[in-house]
Amino acid sequence: MEWEDKRRRMVERLKEELNISERVARAMLKIPRHLFVPSRYRSEAYADTPLPIGSGQTISAPHMVAIMCDLLDLKPGENVLEIGGGSGYHAAVVAEIVGKSGKVTAIERYPELAERAKELLKELGYDNVEILVGDGSKGYEKKAPYDKIYVTATAPEIPKPLLEQLRPGGRMLIPVGDYVQYLYIVDKRPDGSIEKKRWGAVRFVPLVGEYGFKY
Ligand code: SAM
Repeated sequence: MEWEDKRRRMVERLKEELNISERVARAMLKIPRHLFVPSRYRSEAYADTPLPIGSGQTISAPHMVAIMCDLLDLKPGENVLEIGGGSGYHAAVVAEIVGKSGKVTAIERYPELAERAKELLKELGYDNVEILVGDGSKGYEKKAPYDKIYVTATAPEIPKPLLEQLRPGGRMLIPVGDYVQYLYIVDKRPDGSIEKKRWGAVRFVPLVGEYGFKY
């Protein structure tokens, strides 16, 4: 009950301060964020802050998850690709919104993070999410085209394979930049042409891979 109260307060604040949509608020009210963070950070799970999840990576701050879900304009039944699955929290929120008729594929670079996310999502009953280990900068051709793609790590530029795997009429969100990063809204118009809009400054860990940074 204590967790539910904290979660309700977090969502109320996101609604007041960011005016997040009802469907995103409803999804975030359902997902137990405290289970997606290591036990030593559990008491901070409903603060609006990123937290370490191991392997030098972080779970994004709740406001960023909410903003990205709203910008993606997710609808039930959509086929969604996440690059940077991390703890699996963001994927769970998206899975709640796209529902049983939709699906979420999340690619994570670190096998230990992917394994933990996979187990937790299974325990919570999310059978519309698949977590895969690999280099998400190349996308995941097998389940393309995607209605929506979102990247939760910053890239040096927009990876070409991701643009190719987005369906015409689809939308991608991706942070681009190194020291200074901006979140881009990338729309593929029905004729296949691309429209890019800069949303604002953000802070993400790097996308490391063939079409990402080469650390
Ligand atoms: N969405 C995650 C969550 O809900 O916990 C948080 C993601 S964290 C900010 C970014 C993640 O991107 C890290 O877990 C990192 O390992 C992963 N990452 C970085 N480069 C990647 C790549 N090329 N392919 C897949 N995942 C990558």
